[in-house]
Amino acid sequence: MAAIGYFIAKYTQKSQAELAKAAETSSEALGGIRTIYSFVAESSLVQKHLKLLMVASGTNMKKAHLSALTVGGLFFFMFCIYALTWWYGGKLIREGVMPVGDLLTVFMNIIWGIMGFGLIAQILPDIMKAKGAAAGIFALLDRVPEINTNEGIGLTLPHIDGKVTFQNVTFAYPTRSDTKVLRKLNLVINKGQTVALVGPSGSGKSTVIQLLERFYDPLRGTVMIDDIDIKDFDLKWFRRNVGLVSQEPTLFTGTISENILFGNPDATIEEVEQAAKLANAYDFIMQQPNGFNTLVGEKGTQLSGGQKQRIAIARAVLKNPKILLLDEATSALDTESERLVQNALDNLMQGRTTIIIAHRLSTIRNANVICVMMNGKIVEQGTHDQLLELNGVYTSLAAKQLTDIESKIIKKERKMQASISKMKASVSQLRHSSVSQTQEHSRSDLKNSQALI
Ligand code: ATP
Repeated sequence: MAAIGYFIAKYTQKSQAELAKAAETSSEALGGIRTIYSFVAESSLVQKHLKLLMVASGTNMKKAHLSALTVGGLFFFMFCIYALTWWYGGKLIREGVMPVGDLLTVFMNIIWGIMGFGLIAQILPDIMKAKGAAAGIFALLDRVPEINTNEGIGLTLPHIDGKVTFQNVTFAYPTRSDTKVLRKLNLVINKGQTVALVGPSGSGKSTVIQLLERFYDPLRGTVMIDDIDIKDFDLKWFRRNVGLVSQEPTLFTGTISENILFGNPDATIEEVEQAAKLANAYDFIMQQPNGFNTLVGEKGTQLSGGQKQRIAIARAVLKNPKILLLDEATSALDTESERLVQNALDNLMQGRTTIIIAHRLSTIRNANVICVMMNGKIVEQGTHDQLLELNGVYTSLAAKQLTDIESKIIKKERKMQASISKMKASVSQLRHSSVSQTQEHSRSDLKNSQALI
């Protein structure tokens, strides 16, 4: 019985995990229903979902067989005891060893006992199922997260300046622990500086932001703010000082003002309006049917990409973070929206330490420092002009991206630099040859004068 109970609990856990997988596929499919329609992928997704359900159904069938075996076995045992009681009791009565009344008393006791046992038999599979299901819940409750998100634990400061330091940071995502995404990364961003991270896809730019938000901790090395390890800070307090604007702004069902207030729930309506003005969002919000009280729809579907992004920026303005992280904040927008959002971002960046990730180099030309990342390391660092002079990775990235006019300018600059270096080389050659000629002349003059003497 114990062995059957063990297997029922085990199959319950297994089927729950399998059902969770199937539910994940269906909820993902519902979330991306437009993409599925546009790729006409309905039937393939239904098939995928059915396959996962069949796997769970197979496990459930095994569990049902075991449950049936338990109940069947217990009832078999029960009826065997009835039969035994009647047979042996009848025999004793026939032999005159026991009166009929005693047999009835014994029989009634057995019935009551067996009824209790039968009840247990009926609920035993459920107990085992509950045991299997509870194991998952207890495992979750017992799990101690590596990053403690509770408030009140760790350091808080009255004020932070916003100096950011990455010191020898090595990192791999927990799901792929053998692939190092950052390798001994070193980066210092001074208070109020704007630093841009550029580089090929997969070089680790967004990972830098994830570590700075403390979604993960580095495997080795330290991430510091104002020279203090961010692990020492109270996480909630720390995150209140860091603002993130990403490529896909996340809006929640509700009104525009509710979404902006997410940045600071205690802000007044005047502050919300001011934030919207700074984010270049005020005018379009006022054109909406209910102004700030207009509903944005599920995930903000009733607004355009540029409008959503400007609301996300207004939210960041209201949060007023000391450190601002912009992860491809303008890359999904058309030129006009990009101009509006870029202006809003320029307002937002004033007086804050800012890290910008951008593929379009034209948007980060004016950054104080541009860091070029490759394979989890910074391979080049400097201003736009300094990096172009280096003629390395940044120059080739720039050459691929900049507009025709800009590329022509770069080409001309390169040509000019090449001709300047040629000229320098010929001047030094000339100098060298004139010096040697002069030396030659002086030597022959000396010889002549010696001969005269
Ligand atoms: P892009 O410019 O395309 O956004 P990136 O330079 O920002 O790229 P990251 O997003 O930092 O690159 O990813 C760096 C590497 O880490 C990639 O190889 C990626 O596959 C891997 N990676 C990113 N997120 C995860 C994750 N959650 N789990 C496992 N690996 C991940």
